[in-house]
Amino acid sequence: MELSGKRAVVTGSNSGIGLGIARALAAAGAEVVINSFTDDPADHELAAEIAAQTGSPTRYISADMSKPEDCRALIEKAGGCDILVNNAGIQHVARIEEFPVGKWDAIIAINLSSAFHTTAAALPGMYAAGWGRIVNIASAHGLTASPYKSAYVAAKHGVVGLTKTTALEAAGKGITANAICPGYVLTPLVEAQIPDQMKTHDMDRETVIREVMLQRQPSKEFATIEQMGGTAVFLCSDAAAQITGTTISVDGGWTAL
Ligand code: NAD
Repeated sequence: MELSGKRAVVTGSNSGIGLGIARALAAAGAEVVINSFTDDPADHELAAEIAAQTGSPTRYISADMSKPEDCRALIEKAGGCDILVNNAGIQHVARIEEFPVGKWDAIIAINLSSAFHTTAAALPGMYAAGWGRIVNIASAHGLTASPYKSAYVAAKHGVVGLTKTTALEAAGKGITANAICPGYVLTPLVEAQIPDQMKTHDMDRETVIREVMLQRQPSKEFATIEQMGGTAVFLCSDAAAQITGTTISVDGGWTAL
């Protein structure tokens, strides 16, 4: 299989997009490390389930992506990695003047700074191997903005900038760095935004989904975690060896508007 012999670390992968990507990488033959900060028996069972389904060794390693030392320790405990997917992320929706400072700090730490720390820890091994793939999960909000999401938009634009810098530093060394920019994907993170959006816009659930969340997604369909997994596997393939420092939008046309 295409990714046999490659070790992949996917941050924030016990749910949603990260889990979809972890499953797809394991199905493509990679040894996969899944991660969250929870360290529940269910996390280890999930790793065992992926391994049983795909035949690829899959482990769970707990690490809190809000903490720089945990980010770096994750890569060390994994034994380094050939493929790094920076996916962990959280969201908070509020006007700038009411935005809680703690939420701002947490979003910048988890959605942006964690990718800097894991990349710094993973690159030396990739340079030594002469091969590496870094896939950062940004967002349509890495390319455009929406009101009430200041920290998230700032962090995701930062992820796109970090991706470009990583690509330039690693160019010509067998290593690529790219960002996937999903539009709306129905995951627990999006599900959790619905009550806030209902309150902010004073709308019921169906109206918020159609007129607010998918208002800017011309396809009017949520993207799927399987489509994110397929895009990540493609970015790790030989066909994508000259794709670096760029963004791939999987957003139903959002950023074409
Ligand atoms: P999710 O809530 O389903 O998953 C988030 C993951 O991050 C979980 O596995 C969670 O355990 C992990 N996580 C959160 N805080 C963590 C921490 N401190 N340490 C370690 N892990 C932590 O959300 P999702 O929708 O799958 O989002 C995944 C990524 O995709 C995020 O970066 C998000 O910004 C991005 N994204 C999502 C959408 C969407 O529509 N769902 C769109 C664009 C971008």
